[in-house]
Formats: sequence, C-alpha cells, structure tokens
Amino acid sequence: MAGEFPALRANEYRDAWCGQVLPDRVDSGVRVAGWVHRRRDHGGLIFIDLRDRTGLIQLVFDPDDTSGPAFELGHKLRAEDVLSATGQVVRRSDETVNPKMATGEVEIRVKDAELLADSETPPFEIESFSGEVSEEMRLRYRYLDLRRDRMREAIELRHRVTRAMREFLSGEGFLEIETPVLTRSTPEGARDFLVPSRLRRGSFFALPQSPQLFKQLLMVGGFERYFQIARCFRDEDSRADRQLDFTQLDIEMSFVNVDDIIDMNERMLAAVLAEGGVQVELPMRRIPYDEAITRYGTDKPDLRFGLELVEVTDVFRESEFKAFRGAIEGGAMVRALNAGTREMSRSDLDGLVSDAQELGAKGLVWAVVEGDGWRSPVAKFLSEAEISAANEALGASEGAVLLLVADEPLLSAEVLGELRRRLGGRLGLIEEGANELLWVVDWPLLEWAHDEERWDPHNHPFTSPAGEFDPDDPGAARAKAYDVVWNGWEIGGGSIRISDPDVQRKVFATIGIDEAQAEERFGFLLDALRFGAPPHGGIAYGLDRIVALLTRAESIRDVIAFPKSASGVDPLTAAPAPVDERQLRELGIAVRGGGPRREADGES
Ligand code: ASP
Repeated sequence: MAGEFPALRANEYRDAWCGQVLPDRVDSGVRVAGWVHRRRDHGGLIFIDLRDRTGLIQLVFDPDDTSGPAFELGHKLRAEDVLSATGQVVRRSDETVNPKMATGEVEIRVKDAELLADSETPPFEIESFSGEVSEEMRLRYRYLDLRRDRMREAIELRHRVTRAMREFLSGEGFLEIETPVLTRSTPEGARDFLVPSRLRRGSFFALPQSPQLFKQLLMVGGFERYFQIARCFRDEDSRADRQLDFTQLDIEMSFVNVDDIIDMNERMLAAVLAEGGVQVELPMRRIPYDEAITRYGTDKPDLRFGLELVEVTDVFRESEFKAFRGAIEGGAMVRALNAGTREMSRSDLDGLVSDAQELGAKGLVWAVVEGDGWRSPVAKFLSEAEISAANEALGASEGAVLLLVADEPLLSAEVLGELRRRLGGRLGLIEEGANELLWVVDWPLLEWAHDEERWDPHNHPFTSPAGEFDPDDPGAARAKAYDVVWNGWEIGGGSIRISDPDVQRKVFATIGIDEAQAEERFGFLLDALRFGAPPHGGIAYGLDRIVALLTRAESIRDVIAFPKSASGVDPLTAAPAPVDERQLRELGIAVRGGGPRREADGES
C-alpha cells in the first residue's frame, strides 16, 4: 500500500496508520493501533514492531517516557496481541535506522498504551513464516495466514484487478448485472452442484457453472453490453489447482463479431494487467487451434520459449523400423522435437520415455546426433537417409537431443507438447519475468467423445459455427470461438453465440439432445431466440488464475481469501458437513451410503 493511505477519522484507537508514521511527523504526537509483530527486550527498553494493514512501525517502551502501567504492559506483550499506543514520533539515531522498513527512519516513544485484545500463541509464526507450515494448517487458521504480507498483498492486488475490470468495462458502457445463483443446469462440461427445493420436494436447483444462458438472455433483453464478477460452481473431482467455487469475469456483447470482441478484450487486458505491472503488447498474437496443436502440442501453448514440434511422418513412412512404419500404416503420425544441444544422462532420457508412457503414448524414441548418425536405442533400425532427413527437418546439429513419438495424431502432439512444457521449465528456457499472451482461434465446433461414441461440443453447445453448419459432417465444423492463453495457462475463453433457433436445434440434435430434451432443458432459450435475438458473443475469464499469474502464486488458493483445500474441503469451517436428520426430512431426502451419513440412513 505504498504511498497512499486511506483517510482515517481519529478516535480512541488511533489517528494514523502505522505505515504513515514517516519522518514528516517527527516531533508530533501520534496514536497507532495494530498487532504485535515482533517484540524485543533490550535490558531497560522494550521494542515492539506494531503491524496494521499498511505496514510496521517501531514502538519504544522506555521507563523515562512511558507511563508505569504502559511499561508494565510492554513487558507482558506477546506476538499477535492487539494494541493501541500513543506517543511522540522521533528520528532514530543513524546506527539504528532500518532501511528495510518503510518507517525505518523513525520510531514512536510510547507514552501510553492499551491492550485491546490478547492472543494465544499462534499455531504458526506470522512474523517469520516458513514454507514448512502445512497448507491444511494455513487453511484451518486462515485468518492468521491472511495476516502475512504475501497473502495481504495478493488480496489487495485482487481488489485492484477487479476494480480495474469494473472501471474499464464501465467506461466502455458495460452494465454490471447479477444473475441467479439458484438456477438450472448450465452445461459447461462439469457436474452440477444441486440444491434441493424444500417447497417443491423432489425438485432441485443447480448452482450455475457459468452465467452463460442468462447473459445470452440479457442480450435478447436489449442490454447489449453486460459484465459480472460471477461466482461459478463446478462439481469436479479434485483436479490440480481448481476450486469447486471460483470467480469469473463474465462478459457479453451484442451486434459484434470476433474482431470486435478481441479488440475490446485486448484493451481491457492491457489495462487490467498493468495493475499487476505486466505490459501487454497489442495487438496480441492469434494462433489457429490446429497450428497450436501442430507446433506446440497443446491448445494453450507457452510461447515464452521455442522447442517447436515438427511432423516427420513422411521421413519414416517406408522405414525398416517397424514400430514407426506399422504405426504410420495404422494412421499414426510421427512428431518430434529438437531439445537442442544438451548434456542429458541416459537416465534423464529414459525418464522421458516413462514420462511419455505415463502420458498415454506407447513409447518415445530419443536420439542424440553424433556425426552423421544417431546415438539411440533404435539407431540400428534406421537408414542413413532417414536420419539425415529427420535431422534436416528438425534443424538438428551435433549433440542435439531429439525426441520422437509415433502415435495417433492428437495423442502424439499432446504427449510431446507436455514434454515440451516440462522441458521448458527444467532446461531453464523461460526468461525470468517474461510474459506471452495470445489468442487461440478457429476451434473445432465439436469433438468426438470416444467413450460415449458421440459428438460433444468443444466448449458449450451455444457456440456459433463459422459458416453453414452441416449436420452430416460435424467434425468439419469450425467454431467462432477464442481463448486467451497467458504463459501456457488458459485465462479466458468465449465465442460468438448461436442466435438462430434452427441452428441451435441442429447443434443440439448433433450432440444427441433430441427435440423433446431440448425443449425440456433449454426451451426458455429456444423461446427467447424466437423473439429477435441480436447477434451476440462474449467471453469469461478465470479471475483467480489471472491474479495468481500476476502474483506468481503457486496456486490459485493463494489468491482466494477462503479457498477449499486441494481435496475440495474447507478445513476452516469443516464444510462440507452432515446436516440434521430433520433438515433432510423437510427436504424429502434420504441419504444412501456415504461415510458419515450411514447411521442416519438407518434411522429414516
Ligand atoms: N460460459 C463460458 C465458460 O464459462 C465462457 C463463455 O463462453 O463466455 O467457460
């Protein structure tokens, strides 16, 4: 909170913020309040670093200046006690100036002090927090964890980021509009959280996975520019760094095309990220989905380093090496990446083979360029011509480490893409402080869900196809969709929506939602689309992720005041928790199975 201090109305607790006690106040009286951050007893003198939201100030308890009761109190103070102290601001002597502290040139000679609340010994130290404190412990005592600088700064930045969003969007004529939390299922591909209705037994609300349908209805309602900082709920199995409830910046606009949306969003991102000191170069790069997969093996490429994938299927089409030739005949592609000239041990290389297998590939071939040949477990199966063609395609020179995967086209790309991502970090290819933002555009509209043997929307079923939609060739359809990717993280995504009810019906039918189901689940949307729906589209951003990237936090949990743990529970309130049998009865609900509810089951 450098520099600016919120106005303070003087009262019995304080008349200044701790951080505000600077050399310009020397010789004047001051009253401050806060928590005892650190206490040192130097013979006759007691030093306290007092902490409030704005920082630290040193208090000196000295029997020459300090009242008897206050001095006695000074003796008893312990870390995290809450104190109000009055005294004189004095300049510190040269040798005691603390350049690490914003208020380090001065101190307060305490006249009087009052203990406002005492603290038990905290379960972990706030002052000298070590990373060894378990996250479980931090979340159980989150209110103490939040007192740490790092957490406070993250939450302050989060506030500034949302404020920048609100200011930018308001300036562009967007209206902030709330949508319901108790609603119907909004298909975004996750499980719904359900809320039983007491008044309509046997019926359930769903918590929104996103405000998607309501924001579309707001466009039909004529608002044209909407945004909301919206809580969304997705009942997913604990997946790395996700939260069951999380926050989106949700946006929708009418009478716009993809370029309009991208233009507005780029300007907004530049304004918002500047809040966290990140400069965004405009216009941002745009990469078509297919290109992202071919060159980087992922739909969220990290462009802070090269290591691009190269397809070398043709090189090995006639190869004596059966693993490659056979795979190619079966429809596989051989993709490769040149990891550059590196010292990699045999066990590092074998480690990559097992990584690739864990990622689902049948195998991985490594090779090190040596003279005209390769040092590789498969070198003896390959002809000189194949090796030199591959070297040429990969731009490989002496000592280069090459990795090759032959597998289904998408899988071979994804496996190498993931290895690329890991190597980027491991080989130190990422420049400190670098930022690369881009748009991934031209997405497929649908994807084939092998397990269920049907087409699924790539994003959600309301995304507009680009051009005519041909239900006989769903795989060919492209979507008017776009994602924003920042340093390999998808931070936002959206699309132009279907605004024609017939197209919407066709898309529903293609993904296995028949007329009756469409009417039952989305009749209200289909109705609305019949009453003059403007062309419209929008986007949603993961706010938690954006703030986490800005603060370089390891987890989004570090930028949420009260997050769930990685396993989806809240150690602070112990939610989720069993409920009274009476509550269940009112709801007409009996719980079957499940740990803690078994006994209750028996009762009902
Ligand atoms: N509703 C989408 C989501 O939550 C975003 C959008 O299409 O605007 O991912």
